[in-house]
Amino acid sequence: MAKITKKGRTVYPILMPTSYGNMGTINSFLLQDGDSLSLIDAGIHTEEYKQALIVTLAENGFLISDLSRILLTHHHEDHIGLVNWILQQKDIPVYAHPEAIPRLMVDSEFLTMRKNFFTELYIEMGCIDDAKPRLKKLQRTIEQQKEYAIQTTIRPLIEGDEILGMTVVETAGHSADSISFYDMERKWLFAGDVVLQTTATNAIVDPNVKGNRLHTVRQYKKSLERIQQLDIDLLFPGHQEIIEDHQTVIAQKLEKMHRKAERLYHVIEEGIERPKQIAQKLYRNKFNTEFSLVMSEVIGYLDYLEEKGHLLKTIQDGVWHYTVL
Ligand SMILES: [Zn+2]
Repeated sequence: MAKITKKGRTVYPILMPTSYGNMGTINSFLLQDGDSLSLIDAGIHTEEYKQALIVTLAENGFLISDLSRILLTHHHEDHIGLVNWILQQKDIPVYAHPEAIPRLMVDSEFLTMRKNFFTELYIEMGCIDDAKPRLKKLQRTIEQQKEYAIQTTIRPLIEGDEILGMTVVETAGHSADSISFYDMERKWLFAGDVVLQTTATNAIVDPNVKGNRLHTVRQYKKSLERIQQLDIDLLFPGHQEIIEDHQTVIAQKLEKMHRKAERLYHVIEEGIERPKQIAQKLYRNKFNTEFSLVMSEVIGYLDYLEEKGHLLKTIQDGVWHYTVL
């Protein structure tokens, strides 16, 4: 894809087509300013993505050894894939949000806490039997930890930090550690997976490093509203095309979230009280095929509606029951 230059700074986008999760493309961005060459997100760990990076570098007269640093918008595997491979060739700093650090380091204490968190959550949501494969997968991640850990010390970035003249904006919701990089001078925003053109980004339920359940739908809505208000000409997303009219895209997303919340409310209004049954009613067979995403959505919106005072929850035999207020 063609480079984009503005006020002495150039972006070389890498938008590699993928079949990964209906995402269209997996994106990362080379950002050049004078002698400094940064990589924003590091794709997925495949030969194709390595080639895509090498070719984009070469076409513009660069080598891997010209890279100065890596900035990560969040810890998901399609954004960090080549970090270790790059570090093997050149030891450069890697930056991410503090919530990303135990996840990127595949910290066993954190992962054990996370597995216990989900075990308890699925019991309370009445779907522990359906959660067995998910919990097994979480256990496997703990056992394979060394293989996946990022091989360097991650440098933390939080809300308001400045890096390369860009401001760090915390935009949690899709993940606890999601951050965006705002170049106010050029009206650019590197936003990871917070705003995607065609696929809905889900708010994914997760504990924070302290083990508390994050109210991800509320967080995600807040992040979208925040980005909507920023003065942006180009929004560089983690997947699909670069976005020129971010306000319209975000307005559509907020509308969609509103409709989801309404649908869930109506199911409870009909008298379906337990989270598993709510999920089955709303998502039918997807409850089985996409268990963790579906439960994530349902739990996220239950929290959201409860917090807004629309739902009341009571515990019966260890499982939450929801009714409308
Ligand atoms: Zn992604």
